[in-house]
Amino acid sequence: MEVEATEPVSYKLGNLNMNNLIGSQVSLEFTGEINCIACGRDIKKTFSQGFCFPCSQTRADADICIVKPELCHHGFPENPCRDEEFAQSVCFKPHVLYAALTSGVKVGITRLVNVPSRWIDQGATAAIPLAQLPDRFTVGQVEHELAQKYADKTHWMTMLKTQHPEGNLEAVVEMMLDDLDEMGIEILDDSEMVQYNFEYPV
Ligand SMILES: [Zn+2]
Ligand SMILES: [Zn+2]
Repeated sequence: MEVEATEPVSYKLGNLNMNNLIGSQVSLEFTGEINCIACGRDIKKTFSQGFCFPCSQTRADADICIVKPELCHHGFPENPCRDEEFAQSVCFKPHVLYAALTSGVKVGITRLVNVPSRWIDQGATAAIPLAQLPDRFTVGQVEHELAQKYADKTHWMTMLKTQHPEGNLEAVVEMMLDDLDEMGIEILDDSEMVQYNFEYPV
């Protein structure tokens, strides 16, 4: 679903405003048709994010760095991206390292253009951007390092049950900033390190 950072968050499925349907009875019927999100062909089952098998094996947007940014290899001449345009428009774009409050506090990364929708997709009730890094590999390395210490314990069910998950975002952010300092990572200015808050239409 498409999301928008309104108060509360808005969800759209195609042209349908899903917020308006809260409290109503909704039925969904599966047409039986499954299409690859890239090439559109009719398939029996999907791979990765909704690709057909050939697309999942060949496309740059089905590559490992989508799920594991620290393994992005697009800057390495011996193993370059399969699609230079993709690499330039995704992997070599500025990324934001953030701390988000979901069912606990987690560290994550997203491309600058996906702020704040990425946080909403994760069901975060609050998020604070910490640093901006020049590409996916670099930000992936930092995230990977921090994630060892601040494990993600998000469970989507929790997000449906409570609007106030446990966890002290500010306190964890203070610790993360110390870690970043030790790693020699430049953090954002105070004016940019602002907390975003989200309320969900549950
Ligand atoms: Zn396909
Ligand atoms: Zn990449």
